[in-house]
Amino acid sequence: MMDELTSAAELPDDGTDVALRPQRLSDFAGQPQSTEQLAVVLQAALQRGEPAPHLLFSGPPGLGKTTLAQIVAHEMGVGTAFKSTSAPSLEKPGDLVALLTSREPGDVLFIDEVHRLPRVLEEILYPAMEDFVVDIVIGDGPDAKSLRLPLPPFTLVAATTRSGLLSAPLLDRFGLELNFEFYDDDTLAGIIARSARLLGTDITDQAAAELGCRSRGTPRIANRLLRRVRDYAQVQGNGTIDAATLAGGLALFGIDSIGLDKISTRVLDVLTGTYAGRPLGLKTLATAVGESPDTIEDSVEPFLIRKGLIDRTPRGRTATTAAYTHLNRNPPVNHQL
Ligand code: ADP
Repeated sequence: MMDELTSAAELPDDGTDVALRPQRLSDFAGQPQSTEQLAVVLQAALQRGEPAPHLLFSGPPGLGKTTLAQIVAHEMGVGTAFKSTSAPSLEKPGDLVALLTSREPGDVLFIDEVHRLPRVLEEILYPAMEDFVVDIVIGDGPDAKSLRLPLPPFTLVAATTRSGLLSAPLLDRFGLELNFEFYDDDTLAGIIARSARLLGTDITDQAAAELGCRSRGTPRIANRLLRRVRDYAQVQGNGTIDAATLAGGLALFGIDSIGLDKISTRVLDVLTGTYAGRPLGLKTLATAVGESPDTIEDSVEPFLIRKGLIDRTPRGRTATTAAYTHLNRNPPVNHQL
């Protein structure tokens, strides 16, 4: 199992995050390039009285893709409904057709994990996105008939952790692709201060800044750590999160000095220990740390790469010198990175 506290994946406890989600573009911190582009295309669509163009949001989990999709619906005006689904929950063509035909004009349909949409369903999306029509086949065999149904003009917002897996025809049908980047520590500190205010918790500026540095560039992790440290401050302290309380809370929950969780540390441990100096393929690495290759690729690796702790070479994953330093280990002789 993933280490739950610092997993970027959504957990049931994140339900309370609903209250923390920014509702408007102006409340959404970070991702300046994406939000500027989005502001322009939404305003232009509003001025022309059209639905927003279809949007593709790509990037690691927990960076605000769902939040921004909801904001698109809010910004497009009162009465713009937001309907959310995830590709793995759509099994049959009828599931997708039902979703598409029950939209109102201008609605935002959000499909998470769109890279996992089966090809037959993807093909339904092509005419739906391009011409707002859906072709349904009635009956089978020689008597089968194809019927073309008009759809209300809608906006598809699709999210993916792997835009590289999307087919060219699907990619072509999005009006804009936004790539979500990890947040810098200051922006995370601001998100933490805002969340603390909404939760009615006192946190000092210094503690918010430090927590920002330990959140792996990910708002979902920042909010989750904040809630756990809030618990700690309530039970072990006087309720206020200051630097000392924060340090105690993070130590209790096993968060290391740069915010790595157990699984990230295990990955570094394998690459700098048993397999030091040898590039490891994704599957072998996943087996060695006891996780699925998907989890390693989607949720663990991106942050380690961005931190310069591991490198992805054509021959496999290797630890960098920074990883050896972080774990207080000596790199093997002839270490290149
Ligand atoms: P994703 O869909 O990319 O996995 P979410 O949109 O579910 O991520 O975001 C995870 C949580 O992080 C949300 O509940 C939200 O409260 C918080 N969050 C994400 N982005 C921001 C942001 N830019 N500003 C403030 N909070 C954010």
